[in-house]
Amino acid sequence: MTTRKYKELVEQRTRQTLHNWSSQEFVNEKDIYRFLHNLKGTAGTVGLVKVEKQAGSIMLYFSEDVQRSWTEAEWGDYLYPLLELFDDEQDAAHPMLHGSHPPETDPLHGIHHQHEILIIDDDVELVAFLRESLEKQSYYVSIALSAERGLKIFYESKPDLILLDILLPDQSGIDVLRQIIGKAKKERIPIIIVSGEHSKDIQMYAYSLGVMDYLAKPLDIDLFLVLIKNRFELKREWQESVIVDELTGAFNRKYFNQTMKQLVSDFRRTGRIFSVALMDLDHFKHVNDSYGHLVGDEVLQAFSEVVRRSIRVEDTFCRFGGEEFALFMPNTDSASALLVVQRIQHELAARSFTAKKEQFHVTFSAGITEVREELHEPDRLIGEADQALYASKAEGRNRTTLYTKQLGTGLEESLLNVIVVDDDALIRRIVTHHFAAWEPAGIGHVKVSSYAGGPQFLESDWYAQGGKYIILLDGIMPELDGLEVLERIRSSYPEVNILVIMLTGRNNQRDIIHALQTGADDYVVKPFHLPELLSRIERLAHRFLF
Ligand code: GH3
Ligand code: MG
Ligand code: MG
Repeated sequence: MTTRKYKELVEQRTRQTLHNWSSQEFVNEKDIYRFLHNLKGTAGTVGLVKVEKQAGSIMLYFSEDVQRSWTEAEWGDYLYPLLELFDDEQDAAHPMLHGSHPPETDPLHGIHHQHEILIIDDDVELVAFLRESLEKQSYYVSIALSAERGLKIFYESKPDLILLDILLPDQSGIDVLRQIIGKAKKERIPIIIVSGEHSKDIQMYAYSLGVMDYLAKPLDIDLFLVLIKNRFELKREWQESVIVDELTGAFNRKYFNQTMKQLVSDFRRTGRIFSVALMDLDHFKHVNDSYGHLVGDEVLQAFSEVVRRSIRVEDTFCRFGGEEFALFMPNTDSASALLVVQRIQHELAARSFTAKKEQFHVTFSAGITEVREELHEPDRLIGEADQALYASKAEGRNRTTLYTKQLGTGLEESLLNVIVVDDDALIRRIVTHHFAAWEPAGIGHVKVSSYAGGPQFLESDWYAQGGKYIILLDGIMPELDGLEVLERIRSSYPEVNILVIMLTGRNNQRDIIHALQTGADDYVVKPFHLPELLSRIERLAHRFLF
């Protein structure tokens, strides 16, 4: 469906509503308010700029909490002029993107090139303002209002830069700093302190721990933005000069890409074959959750040590992502590669780890593929190894699978459930429609469902254990508002596999604060722009590490 089609639907619906009202003796003020509120959000989203603005200004004359009835003669003066605006809007350019900042790259395919900034700060107005300013510069921003949440996001999504406040509700920023600085340095993630607390002692201490910058609140936003830009440039220079991952001693992703290119071109020139294995630790989240991220890091190091001891000099071992590794084995067919990987599997399984006075063991799953004549793109090769890895996971883990053409069939695909809860039928339609056609890279299959209100949603049997969910929750709904729905989700279901994005109105800081405090993972301001929404969802989905 095109945007034009949506615009027409909005127009139709608006005409229909006014038509229905014109046959009623009175209309409740509350209904008018809600109508305008929805119209504003929806019109903005589909690119009806004038209608959006006008609805927003008329809204000020009505209130949700007033028990007044309006006759057509009264409401008509306010609402009928809206209809004329639809005619003016027909050829607004690029409606879906109006008012939005063009992202650096296509948000659906290039999200990983967009820098991610994590803000750990409980000063919500400032955070919301920073987020808006940074997003205008095409940065992607995640927000943590507490130290605990900040640490969680730090480990799960590996931001490119961190802004850290000193006074946090649960722990001091200095404590957070102590916990993350070592790893941040290794991963080359600059940390910038932004704080109202800037005594010389604290600053000296923070610098001595290794923070990059210490900025005093209030911030000068222009200075702040150029500083951030500089820091990213510095980071890029660092990244270009290193090839080894500091935590594990494995080669990094950049080196991985180079090696892949090199091996493929050697193969084309000389016919020298090679195999590649992808390895992913099993239930690694469980290690982190039970023993802490530091122990998790030790496990990653131990694993790398085992691998490096078991391979030949011409093999190349790389850290592909968080706890995913790749091994290139030149002059090795897949059958021999299988033996190598299985040997590593045995060695790792034989090793025992101790933490919290408990002993535990760690295993990994792997997938292997071998370069072949008809295979032309390096990415395909990784795709094959990944499919084989996925089969190992599906069949019970701690095993290695060789890629074959038959693999992909018969395997249950990984599924992301997207649920929209919004009383605005048009929003439900737009989102449902777009998601049905959405095929995000690396995320298997997306299933969309929608509900017109909190009660319908909560009473349905939407949840299945182990499923992965992203819920888009409208902030203002007639029966149960979004925050209440959010509270129920957080109190009745495990948090791990459910991410919630609140859809809130602009200038609704209080709702945003509440939503984040109640456990929303993200928020999007209505009118939202679909590309932005999709890109945020894709980002969040990667937290599930599809
Ligand atoms: P599966 O067997 O399906 O792979 O389960 P899993 O728990 O390993 O699941 P998944 O691959 O989705 O989770 C990987 C976890 O690895 C999530 C993330 O928090 C953690 N992780 C990623 N990088 C690091 C790191 O550098 N250090 C630590 N401690 N944990 C990391
Ligand atoms: Mg894993
Ligand atoms: Mg993984």
